[in-house]
Amino acid sequence: MAESVYKLIELTAASKTDIEGAIQNAVSKAAETIRSLRWFEVVQTRGVIEKDRIVYWQVTLKLGFNVENESLQAKEQTGSQEGENKVSTKEGIKPQSSKYRCKVCGYIYDPQKGDPSQEIKPGTAFEELPDSWKCPECGVNKDQFEKIN
Ligand code: FE
Repeated sequence: MAESVYKLIELTAASKTDIEGAIQNAVSKAAETIRSLRWFEVVQTRGVIEKDRIVYWQVTLKLGFNVENESLQAKEQTGSQEGENKVSTKEGIKPQSSKYRCKVCGYIYDPQKGDPSQEIKPGTAFEELPDSWKCPECGVNKDQFEKIN
């Protein structure tokens, strides 16, 4: 008998055309890094409206995938064993300058690059962005972003 362990992740994706497209975008994105996707469940659907028109369909999905033993262990072992002799590459980078990802469309704000489209200079931490700043891809507010790395 097969002994399977599944892991669940939740992610949100968007499409300009329809909900099915948004679901497919989420699955395709996840498939870039996860091999054994098995099923999905839509937990939320919503959209962005501008000038009385739907400009984005958004879905939040749960995705289930098989977990293989190796991949369960691999994550936990990657650690800081090689640290001490290495020249730190972090010098000069502000500690708060993490990247942030738009939960709606997947756009990643990279503080090293800033956002020239909204006159945000390179080196601007996400926390320093003005509240009026919007996702340059889909137009949602800062509160729709999550920290990565
Ligand atoms: Fe976005």
